[in-house]
Amino acid sequence: MISFDRMPSSDYVVLGAGMAGLTIAREIARAGRSVTVVERGAQVGGLARTVRRDGFAWDLGGHRFHSNNPGVVRWLEGLLGGDLLRVERRSRIYLRGRFIDYPIRLTQAIRAFGLANAVRGAASYAAAAVVNHRERAVTFEEWVTRRFGRVLYETYFKPYTEKVWGIRCHELSAEWAAQRIGVPSLLNTVRQAVSRPAVAPATAVREFRYPRSGYGAITDRLAGEIDRAGHTVLTSTTLASLRFGDGGAVVGVAGEDGARRTIDCGRVISTVPLGALLGAFAGDPDLARTAADARLDYRGIVLVLMAVDARRISPDTWTYFPESSVVFGRSHEPKHFSPAMVPRENVTSLALEVFASPGESAWTSDDRDLIARAAGDLEGIGWLREESLLHAHVVRVPFAYPVHDIGFADRLARVTGALGRYPRLSLLGRTGAFMYRNADGVIEDCFRLAAALGLRQADGVQPLPADEGRWV
Ligand SMILES: Cc1cc2nc3c(=O)[nH]c(=O)nc-3n(C[C@H](O)[C@H](O)[C@H](O)COP(=O)(O)OP(=O)(O)OC[C@H]3O[C@@H](n4cnc5c(N)ncnc54)[C@H](O)[C@@H]3O)c2cc1C
Repeated sequence: MISFDRMPSSDYVVLGAGMAGLTIAREIARAGRSVTVVERGAQVGGLARTVRRDGFAWDLGGHRFHSNNPGVVRWLEGLLGGDLLRVERRSRIYLRGRFIDYPIRLTQAIRAFGLANAVRGAASYAAAAVVNHRERAVTFEEWVTRRFGRVLYETYFKPYTEKVWGIRCHELSAEWAAQRIGVPSLLNTVRQAVSRPAVAPATAVREFRYPRSGYGAITDRLAGEIDRAGHTVLTSTTLASLRFGDGGAVVGVAGEDGARRTIDCGRVISTVPLGALLGAFAGDPDLARTAADARLDYRGIVLVLMAVDARRISPDTWTYFPESSVVFGRSHEPKHFSPAMVPRENVTSLALEVFASPGESAWTSDDRDLIARAAGDLEGIGWLREESLLHAHVVRVPFAYPVHDIGFADRLARVTGALGRYPRLSLLGRTGAFMYRNADGVIEDCFRLAAALGLRQADGVQPLPADEGRWV
């Protein structure tokens, strides 16, 4: 039998030190309760961390901060002060060997697709925009074709979405599309397509906020505050076991050196992948069965992070590569987010997002092969010369996106229903609650949970009304 050393008990144990775990842990600390955070990685931040090498810094996919809730923006300003930049967004799509501004302009569309195809696309979009469908869309394919027409769907949405998710668009739920894709009015789209307005529309060049030293500054700052207030953030430590009793829970954790410890606590908040949480429950066969039947999968991502001896590669904050001929699906150039992401003005960098889950070829590929393939594709696009690549490395992220395939909502409800047996457990965050959330949505969910637990601070942040946010 494995023996566990006992750590000091806490009012709360928070599993995971990403945006969700650290935001809620700071609320707990500010409410004067004790908290221990358990994080598997060597670094805090989860999906929102910034990795650094030789003076270069990259997010794991370009992260912008945007919230429609002024209270959430003020919260972030309070955390980062003058270190929060305003950045102008510029996105382009690389299609058929050309870069096209997003939103698409008519002249560029004609050049890229030819007049006949551009007219066909515009006609199919206009037809879709005026038809009023009565029945609810179930699949992603139905949702998009009804709003944007079949030509735009086949040209952009289908290849890009299937590249990101690794599943066919008719297997992906319409709910995901509804959460993620804004539908511009037909009139606005026509205006934008024909001319570039003097004042950019909200969907085109949009400003966002960004921490000067990388997105990871948000979670680094939160972890620093939690630590300074005398609470514990354990890194390189994995959840090993979970046992609930009448008065609280006992959380078993394992360090990288194999050392096992337990923490007694009053409540557990989980932001870790559902499989990791459910696997920690020993002695609940019903839960193990529900978990096995649930098939709630996450999509992974492989980042190829490059340092490049060139002043600038593109004008874009993000560039999208829907076609399967290019190994990556999206890129960003970190110095366009903040000049502090590179060590000198005359060098730059790229983060290339290769969408792949564990076991797929891009995931299992040797790092050097993947870097060579990505560099070759960049040369083909005209973005890189072999000799200008200073260094490159690969980061694999297994739980980047909760997969919202058809029927996931019912299967998720069965899991959360089964976990309802444990009233001292809460699920939180994009990864922990299996919700497709950006960081601002995650932060709002933290405020909602803090309020539900009676932890709210009187700091004036009012969460917007809950949409599909949920926890147990
Ligand atoms: C490519 C990409 C681009 C994005 N762009 C944006 C953007 O532009 N703007 C935006 O607002 N949001 C963006 N997001 C979303 C944003 O990253 C997430 O909403 C946010 O970081 C989620 O935080 P979280 O704490 O819920 O999850 P996570 O960050 O996944 O945190 C979970 C934590 O649990 C830890 N963990 C896992 N297993 C265990 C275990 N067994 N024991 C202990 N710890 C464990 C993990 O290491 C991790 O730190 C993007 C996401 C991706 C993938």
